[in-house]
Amino acid sequence: TDRLPLALQQKFIQVSHRSLQVLSAGTQRERERERQRVVLSNIMEVEDIIRMNGGVGQSSYANNCIVQVSPLPALLHYHSAHHRKISKDAYMDYYRIVITKAELVLEETIRELHEALKPKCLMLADMGCSSGPNAFLVLSKIMQVINEVSQNLNKPILEFGVFLNDLPGNDFNALFQFLSSFYKQIEEENGRKFGPCFVSATPKSFYGRVFPTQFLHFVHSSFSLHWLSQVPKGLVTNEGVALNKGNIHIAKTSPTDVQKEYYKQFEMDFTLFLRSRASEVVPGGRMVLTFQGSIQSNNPNPIFEPLGSALHDMVLEGVIDEEKLDMFNMPCYFPTVEEVKHLV
Ligand code: SAH
Repeated sequence: TDRLPLALQQKFIQVSHRSLQVLSAGTQRERERERQRVVLSNIMEVEDIIRMNGGVGQSSYANNCIVQVSPLPALLHYHSAHHRKISKDAYMDYYRIVITKAELVLEETIRELHEALKPKCLMLADMGCSSGPNAFLVLSKIMQVINEVSQNLNKPILEFGVFLNDLPGNDFNALFQFLSSFYKQIEEENGRKFGPCFVSATPKSFYGRVFPTQFLHFVHSSFSLHWLSQVPKGLVTNEGVALNKGNIHIAKTSPTDVQKEYYKQFEMDFTLFLRSRASEVVPGGRMVLTFQGSIQSNNPNPIFEPLGSALHDMVLEGVIDEEKLDMFNMPCYFPTVEEVKHLV
């Protein structure tokens, strides 16, 4: 199992630990009930399990996140001991395009927001900030735009209230270690002192209320909203039969109901996200949300499909129990533009 990503390893270890307990005693019927309880309790635990690798080590999110291929100056230059060489393959080019496009939207939105609301203190949140420096890149862009606008209008410098949100298991300590480099960088780049910037962490699922009513002017989220709050329950029937046998996400061999179950979960989660933010954002506030999508909703996922077949090979080699693979599914969905428009 050391060939698997950490989150998968932990999941398999948990499942096998429970399976041993199940095997230890009870009638056939009790064992079946226990097995279903294990499946359900695994579904409930997703929010405790999802997190990026913490710290700043070789396999940490901070050292592997896409910031390193972004056209923006990487904050990691200040952490040169950990800086890695940029790989120029097509996959990374894809991220580069996404980031550049999102940056233009971000800039335009912040200008509009400032024009419309003219807040004295801009309250903003980054939902799903993780433990890498990407959150500070966004923040630095926002501050740069605001600084420019207020200088042009000869207005006093704005204050910033910044709320970095992620699940409670996120390594917020690693994230806050980038703060001093961040302050240093914005001062160097802009040549003018910024207004006070109050940064805090809000460890809570964004699928539900995180902030008080009408508290925020701006919400940002990048590469986080394709993570679901749980594995779709319908992927395992009430009788405990796995629908997506041999796969861990939507794959060529998945029955059509698999995509439907994934969409149902995304619909619930995304709607809850939008409803919660609608209460928290002031009238006239703005959001910029970037997340991974698909051209067609039943397109096999280019990462999870090969990972699924690698796990399937491990079943054939006897390294993993077939049942564990059949029951395991990734809690992510990559919606189409039409699906997102429909839900908005
Ligand atoms: N925004 C960062 C990180 C993206 S990784 C960037 O662009 O680099 C996705 C992040 O979303 C992870 O840190 C994960 O823990 C977080 N996440 C997933 N589900 C979440 C939820 N329900 N609530 C809050 N954060 C969540």
